[in-house]
Amino acid sequence: MRIDRVRVVRTPLEMVNPLRTSDGRHESRLATLVEVRDSDGVIGWGENVAPAGVAYVDESTDESLKATCELIAPLLAGRDIDVFEMLPESWWGVSGHNFAKHAVESAVWDIHARRESKSLRDVLGGTRSVIVPGVVVGIADTVEETVMEVQQRIAEGYGRVKVKISPGRDADVLRAIRSSCGDELLLQADANAAYSNSDIALLSSLDEFNLQFIEQPFSSSDLQSHAELSRRSRTAVCLDESICTLDELLTALEMDACSVVNIKPSRVGGIGAAVQMHHILKSRGIDAWVGGMLESGIGRASCLALASLPGFTMTPDLSASARYFASDITAPFEMVNGEIQVPTGPGIGVEPLPEVLSSPETQIQTIFER
Ligand code: MG
Repeated sequence: MRIDRVRVVRTPLEMVNPLRTSDGRHESRLATLVEVRDSDGVIGWGENVAPAGVAYVDESTDESLKATCELIAPLLAGRDIDVFEMLPESWWGVSGHNFAKHAVESAVWDIHARRESKSLRDVLGGTRSVIVPGVVVGIADTVEETVMEVQQRIAEGYGRVKVKISPGRDADVLRAIRSSCGDELLLQADANAAYSNSDIALLSSLDEFNLQFIEQPFSSSDLQSHAELSRRSRTAVCLDESICTLDELLTALEMDACSVVNIKPSRVGGIGAAVQMHHILKSRGIDAWVGGMLESGIGRASCLALASLPGFTMTPDLSASARYFASDITAPFEMVNGEIQVPTGPGIGVEPLPEVLSSPETQIQTIFER
C-alpha cells in the first residue's frame, strides 16, 4: 500500500474522575490521533497515548508528538508499506519512539484490515467476541475513599479491580479493600515502579491479601529485584514498564523476573510487536493481558481487538468509555452485563465522531500530502 497523506489530530478529553498513581494526577488529556490515508483513499486511525511526564517510560507526550510529526510519520511518504514489516526494530533504521511508532503503525493496521474488509480482530487472529474488562482504581486522599471507589466499580459490574499502591499506601489499603469487599474479589496491585530492593520483605508480606499479582514494584531496569521478589513471594509478579522491546521480554523470562506480563501495544512499539510478544508468551505458558493507557475510543478499539487473542489469559485494563471520559471521541464503548464487545466492523470498527473533527477545539495538522 502507498500512503498519500498523514495528519495529526489533537482534541481535548476531560477525565470523569482524575486518576492518581504513584507518579501524579491525571485530570484531562489532549488526545493525539494519527489519521493515515492510502492512495486509494482508505483512511485508518491510530492514537499516540504517550503520558504527560516521563515517569512511566522515557517518552513524554510532547517528545512523542514531535517524533510523530518530524521523524516517524514522514517515513511513510512515498513508500510501499507492508504493515507486517513495521516492527519497531525495523523502522527504516530509526530506533526508539515506541509510542510514536505505535500511533502510526496502528493506523496502517486499520487501513490494512479495512482493505481486506475484515475487522482488526479477525486479521490478528482474535478468538473472543467480548472482553470481560477490569478497572483501575487510583490512589485517593484516604483509604476510605479508595474503598468507596472500589465498591462503586464493583456495583458498576467490574469483576476485577486493580488498585494503585505506593510506599506508605499499600498494606493498609489492601487490608481495607479485602475486609469490605471480601476474599472473592479478583484484586491486583500496581506500584508503577515506586519501590526499591530494600522493600522486598514488605512486598512479600502482601501475600496475605491473596492478590492475583503485583505489577511493576521496581524500576524498569531492575529485573534482578523482580526476580528476587518472584522467588520470595507467593504472589505472582507482573512486568509492565520493564518490557518495551522483544529483547527485554526474552531477558526477563530468562531471569524468571515475572510470571505475568502486561502488554501495552503503545509501550512495545506497535500492534505487530504486541502480537509477536503474545505468541512467545502463549508458547511458554506465561499469563499475559492487555494494559490501557487512558486511550480514547480509537486506541481502545485496537486494544480490544488485540485482547481478543487467545494467549491474553488475564483480564485487561480496558474499561468502558464512561469510566474515563465525559464524552469519547468515538461512539462510546459500553459495558453490558460485565462485558465489552470487541468491534466487528471493518478495521478497528470505529472512527472519530464528525463533531469532534469539526470542533473549534480540535487542531488538525497535515504532516505530508502527496
Ligand atoms: Mg502498570
